[in-house]
Amino acid sequence: MDLIIGAGISGLGYAAATHNPYLIVERDKEIGGYCKTIYNGDYVWDYSGHFFHFLRPALRDYVMERIDPSEVLQVQKHTQIYYNGRHIDFPFQMNIHQLEQEEFIDCLYDLFTAPDSAEVTSFKQMLYAKFGRSIAEKFLIPYNSKLYATDLDRLDVDAMGRFFPFADKEQIVRNFRNRDTHSYNASFLYPKRGCIRIIESVASHVDDSCLSLEEKLLEVDLTQHTAVTDRRTIHYDRLISTIPFPTLLSLCHVDYDKSVYSCNKVLVFNLGFDSKGPERVNNWIYYPDRSLVFYRVGFYDNILGQDKMSLYVEIGFSHDAEIPDTQMLLQRTLDDLRQVGVLTTQQLVAHQELVMDPAYVHITQQSEVDKAAKMALLAQHDVYSIGRYGAWKYCSLEDNLNDAFQLAERLK
Ligand SMILES: Cc1cc2nc3c(=O)[nH]c(=O)nc-3n(C[C@H](O)[C@H](O)[C@H](O)COP(=O)(O)OP(=O)(O)OC[C@H]3O[C@@H](n4cnc5c(N)ncnc54)[C@H](O)[C@@H]3O)c2cc1C
Repeated sequence: MDLIIGAGISGLGYAAATHNPYLIVERDKEIGGYCKTIYNGDYVWDYSGHFFHFLRPALRDYVMERIDPSEVLQVQKHTQIYYNGRHIDFPFQMNIHQLEQEEFIDCLYDLFTAPDSAEVTSFKQMLYAKFGRSIAEKFLIPYNSKLYATDLDRLDVDAMGRFFPFADKEQIVRNFRNRDTHSYNASFLYPKRGCIRIIESVASHVDDSCLSLEEKLLEVDLTQHTAVTDRRTIHYDRLISTIPFPTLLSLCHVDYDKSVYSCNKVLVFNLGFDSKGPERVNNWIYYPDRSLVFYRVGFYDNILGQDKMSLYVEIGFSHDAEIPDTQMLLQRTLDDLRQVGVLTTQQLVAHQELVMDPAYVHITQQSEVDKAAKMALLAQHDVYSIGRYGAWKYCSLEDNLNDAFQLAERLK
């Protein structure tokens, strides 16, 4: 029997695809993991913005075939950066021509005179080498430091993989005249009833009687092939885990260096107002300015075509940081929203807060090497760790589904 830990997209995806007998154990009282949706009056809120872009048509069709097409919006992405009191298009590096002339010249000069990139060993060094000092220091470093809540010198060169909007000098210059909106999520899908509809679609392939909610994994005995939960001891043939990788190592009593696996956490405020705000076109806006509490604000109302402002606001913390009083942070958020012009006369009528911990894992050279060694060790005991946090990587829901399907095929 395959014991699957976690009923997020990864655990459900594995269960949907496997031909082996299985049991899913999920500590929460609902399925979905980070892909849950909260309904609050007129407002539809996810665990921060979750929008769907599929590289693989077969996976898109698999997910969408069980959702009524009239329920799904296809949105052409429109996002900007709030920089020095004005909005410029995202990504910053492609749109430096929209800056004040002096700043534009600095960015362009540094872009063309950046030292050779042959020796870069960290994400931060890569930003300097690829884009030059001005682009790095005006946007890429402050924004990503706010999001990751760590020194970017710790992160691997490839810490964001395909999600980083690379552009070479030629593409940047060409974009001055002919706007290139190409990106991994230039257009995205979003179900009108929120992200949970994607989960429900995948879960419709899963046998409900093989799902145990509100049951938490506490310990694994690798040699005995047994898992202890807060309810029972379960004997398994293979264990498929989607919980954060360092937690799994601890539960399996595998020694590891805790400093190798770090991450950020994100406090999300979902905010509902009594009327539409002044921002009518952007799906979300990036805020690199360190004096503003949030790094990104998304507009559900612009995506869903609603007539009342509905926002998600993301604030990054390091994993170890204590989150200060959230009432105070909410007040600060509202003040900062006023300062950047998102909020004018609208009244807050509904709100909700949640913490995503972990949110973005810190991919470092050390974590990649250690993870590969520990995964090989676990596999010798028929334990497999998948998912965004199980595989300790930066990825999308589609990648999770793809990895889950591939593992199910391999363990057939
Ligand atoms: C801020 C943010 C924005 C994002 N935006 C997007 C987006 O726009 N598009 C996109 O495609 N992806 C997005 N993602 C990524 C997406 O959320 C993840 O890839 C996906 O949700 C990961 O699913 P998972 O099943 O691997 O993990 P999870 O969703 O974390 O599921 C793991 C499950 O394991 C359970 N669990 C944990 N410990 C135990 C235990 N001891 N016993 C039993 N159960 C346990 C948890 O309760 C949870 O249900 C975003 C992520 C973040 C942080």
